[in-house]
Amino acid sequence: QYIIQTKELEFSYPDGTKALNNMSIAFEQGKKIAIIGPNGAGKTTLFLTLNGVHRATGGKIYYHNQPISYGKKELLALRKNVGIVFQDPNIQLFSANVFQEVSFGPINLGMPKAMIKEKVMEALSKTDITYLKDRPTHFLSGGQKKRVSIADILAMEPEVIFLDEPTAFVDPKTSEELMNFFDLLNHEGKTIVLSTHDIDKVYPWADYVFVMKDGTLFAEGVPEEIFQNE
Ligand code: ADP
Ligand code: ADP
Repeated sequence: QYIIQTKELEFSYPDGTKALNNMSIAFEQGKKIAIIGPNGAGKTTLFLTLNGVHRATGGKIYYHNQPISYGKKELLALRKNVGIVFQDPNIQLFSANVFQEVSFGPINLGMPKAMIKEKVMEALSKTDITYLKDRPTHFLSGGQKKRVSIADILAMEPEVIFLDEPTAFVDPKTSEELMNFFDLLNHEGKTIVLSTHDIDKVYPWADYVFVMKDGTLFAEGVPEEIFQNE
């Protein structure tokens, strides 16, 4: 049962940079998946293309076996279900305080007010930052901002969560807590797709690994297969 699948996916930026080329991949629902590859391999572009922020310039994307379409309503639904947590929380966080920040997604989805509050409080509790509710986002530590940016996404109750280099720029303790937290989300049924160039973190964590290189799929398999020749 694949939640997301692509066939010969391509994406070129307006300046002509071909960031994705002939990518055919499939994500099994409910798994912990890692995308590894050096900087510039196309990992971020892949995430943005799979959740409709970038429009594919070639090939097909399927969500639950249905080709995705780029209508306004369909895109809103896709972005609700496929959340991206960006590498740098500063580009994601823009509201005055934490509660408002995490409310943004649910408001955008048109949820009724009482439900918004419930979803926000749930997301804050899960990420262990209820105590930050009324704090200005601007003055939080890097690790706290990371948690807010994850709560942002959780408040929309996505089925799939893309985490772009989630442990870059966080201290080792926070990094370990985050990896454990992603396990917890996975146990609750969410499909977790994490990009990284930190192979040591991925090996014990991932169910399945995709290796990207120069915008293409270089290899895929279980960690034991992928890393046997490292
Ligand atoms: P292999 O034959 O390469 O060992 P298996 O089909 O035995 O692969 O699967 C091994 C593990 O990897 C299983 O947990 C399976 O669910 C997972 N897996 C296989 N393919 C994918 C995929 N495309 N996306 C996510 N997980 C996958
Ligand atoms: P990764 O996440 O693996 O580091 P990216 O998806 O960020 O890779 O980048 C893939 C390729 O696309 C790189 O060659 C990068 O320079 C290029 N790229 C990324 N963003 C843009 C952009 N806005 N305009 C043009 N090229 C871009």
